[in-house]
Amino acid sequence: MMLIDSDLLDAQVVGVIARITASVDGLRVAVLADAGARGLRFALSAGIGEIIDPTDAESIAAFVSTTSSAAPMERVLAIGAHPDDVEIGCGATLLRHRDQGHWLSVLTLSRGAVGGPREDRRREAIGAAITMSAELLMGDITDTRI
Ligand SMILES: [Zn+2]
Repeated sequence: MMLIDSDLLDAQVVGVIARITASVDGLRVAVLADAGARGLRFALSAGIGEIIDPTDAESIAAFVSTTSSAAPMERVLAIGAHPDDVEIGCGATLLRHRDQGHWLSVLTLSRGAVGGPREDRRREAIGAAITMSAELLMGDITDTRI
């Protein structure tokens, strides 16, 4: 199961998703997007037809419950100030949790603009989250103001 926010979609991310869906049988992908979302056209161009309104909690819960195992899942939340903090700081631990079937969430509070171009860092964060099979939540607090 892959549930991705439309704000994180661009042509490059869509390419990564296409490669993953081509190599993983039965992977369901849905995009969280409201009608005017910027990333919607990327989702549609990639053939991702499952679009869920981000304010529709029931639909999100239904998507997750129909694609997850029946066993209650342990959830792990890792919080970092910048993209790559979590991956460098505790990536191996997160991978161990993933291998045990736990649900991973990574919350990155800023785009890390002081450390490099924010678009590059955003893409790297998305790539890392996909690689770890983690949910990525990206805040946009001004770097060095956290
Ligand atoms: Zn940092």
